[in-house]
Amino acid sequence: MHLKSLTVKGFKSFASATTLRLEPGITCVVGPNGSGKSNVVDAISWVLGEQGAKALRGGKMEDVIFAGTAGRAPLGRAEVTLTIDNGDGALPIDYTEVSITRRMFRSGESEYEINGNSCRLLDIQELLSDSGIGREMHVIVGQGQLDAVLHAKPEDRRAFIEEAAGVLKHRKRKEKALRK
Ligand code: ATP
Ligand code: MG
Repeated sequence: MHLKSLTVKGFKSFASATTLRLEPGITCVVGPNGSGKSNVVDAISWVLGEQGAKALRGGKMEDVIFAGTAGRAPLGRAEVTLTIDNGDGALPIDYTEVSITRRMFRSGESEYEINGNSCRLLDIQELLSDSGIGREMHVIVGQGQLDAVLHAKPEDRRAFIEEAAGVLKHRKRKEKALRK
């Protein structure tokens, strides 16, 4: 399994539809300051369901929608599609390629799709839960995050270990069931 491509449209600085093709192995994104490198990483967190504006380096969720420039009007929605190669069947779904889409309007409403079919965020989270990818997985290591792990309280450090061991999913399901 590997990330195959990322398409961003109306997301942050990407006004026009832009597709990045990703090959197996290491991909480096290079460019001048402010050219949108971190926005690419934000797009991956966002499509996987990130709900916190701060984690996306914005003040409110709407800040992910292209806000316009001197020569270009603001847009009304942001859309990101992440396509994952599932040739090895690592994701429990009968497709060799899985596309996850998130779309958000200025009203703040988000829509999610798996291979073009509407779904809930929960469906995406469950699909990815054993794969090592996901919004709450520590697969995106931000600046300062290593320090945070090293200085974490024991109970917080336990959460990292539970995640790595694959226990976190079951704990979350249990908490959700108990809330009902
Ligand atoms: P650095 O090398 O400094 O880390 P970077 O390549 O990571 O830079 P980003 O932080 O990805 O740069 O991009 C910042 C740019 O994205 C800024 O120019 C900012 O104006 C633009 N930007 C962010 N949100 C939006 C938005 N909603 N609409 C339009 N442009 C946006
Ligand atoms: Mg950056």
